[in-house]
Amino acid sequence: MTFGPAANVGRELRSLERFQPVLDALPGPAYLVGGTVRDLMLRLPPRFDFDLAVVGDAERFAGHLAARLGGRLTTFGQFGTARVDYDDRAHVDVAAARTETYATPAALPDVAAADSIEQDLARRDFTINAMAIALPHARLIDPFDGSQHLRERIVRVLHEGSFIDDPTRIFRAARYETRMDFRMDPKTETLALMAAPLVAQLSGARVREELFAIFEEEDPERTLARLHRLGIDEALDVEFPAAPTDLQQRLRELNDAYALGLSRSHLGLLSIRAPEGWLDDIKVTRRIADGVEAARREEPFLRAALAGRADAPAEIVEAVERTGPDTALYTLARAEDSALRRYFDRLRGVRLEVDGDDLRALGLDESPRVGEVLGELRRRKLNGELAGRAEELAAARELLSE
Ligand code: ATP
Repeated sequence: MTFGPAANVGRELRSLERFQPVLDALPGPAYLVGGTVRDLMLRLPPRFDFDLAVVGDAERFAGHLAARLGGRLTTFGQFGTARVDYDDRAHVDVAAARTETYATPAALPDVAAADSIEQDLARRDFTINAMAIALPHARLIDPFDGSQHLRERIVRVLHEGSFIDDPTRIFRAARYETRMDFRMDPKTETLALMAAPLVAQLSGARVREELFAIFEEEDPERTLARLHRLGIDEALDVEFPAAPTDLQQRLRELNDAYALGLSRSHLGLLSIRAPEGWLDDIKVTRRIADGVEAARREEPFLRAALAGRADAPAEIVEAVERTGPDTALYTLARAEDSALRRYFDRLRGVRLEVDGDDLRALGLDESPRVGEVLGELRRRKLNGELAGRAEELAAARELLSE
């Protein structure tokens, strides 16, 4: 990977077409900060989100910017942040430069306005994320040698207490390592190992946010394995796969192949071993928590129930339908199984062409018998005994006359 030396940051910026309207509309001095600067220097594909910091009133700045840019302004009130949407999909987040101090480890910081961009950069996570480009003249501000560390492909914290202040940075470090194929420098790695137990003090919701950010990326297995080696899962009392396995890959493939529509986070959670109730602790939605926990619990039973049943379609469907919504997927992802293949390839899509209304037309009143008859028809259809609506109706008539 190559990137322009600091002196060329102006040229890189000018080549960033999507950002030109913002540059042209700037109502005053501002700093491009965060991942945008890092990615610009790495010449990664242009992003759609740009982070600006201003020393002073960010909301006012954003208001002027939106007006000059013809963009849409949203203000958040929180620490003076605002967002300006422009063009089709691009947006700028504007924040006031700020300092953050941590009264206790793993708690949220106390925030105060900063009087310089350098102070704002000093609160950031890693040197490669602690650079700014002063606008409009495109001067690089790089107090922690971030550009050198980009060249060396290392993730380095700004100070020894960084992970103690905010242990979520350990997740972030591992995520950047995987995404960019970087490496923590030895000292940062040691600090991460030492601070690992502190992740137990993070709120569940913050842990979930970090995990979900990992699942959204290209290679979550690799990041989880790295976090495992750092002792993060042990500290959380869960177990991440110690090495990339093909479980997550298979979950994603099956989800795509059969258009099951599970989110990446939902699939990712299926690959983590955790005690019952942990998903509630990290505030995962009820639906996902129930599905994932049931899958882990029921997998051996479903597998046993299906053993030797590949040729009994109705029994396959019955066994699957006794389990939670994720169990069949999880079981098949864990190990190939011909009965489950059959279920996903064909049986899942088998639908009767008659319904309760048809049974009513045949003289059957609303009663539990309706469900029984439909169940029996479906069983026969799954077993290939009924082809089409006419045969289903004939079978229904026969069942009703019994
Ligand atoms: P990504 O490409 O993952 O979006 P990003 O660098 O834009 O990368 P964000 O999570 O949007 O990531 O954060 C924006 C910037 O805010 C980071 O570049 C970093 O400077 C700072 N930052 C984010 N989280 C933290 C944190 N926990 N501690 C310190 N600084 C942080």
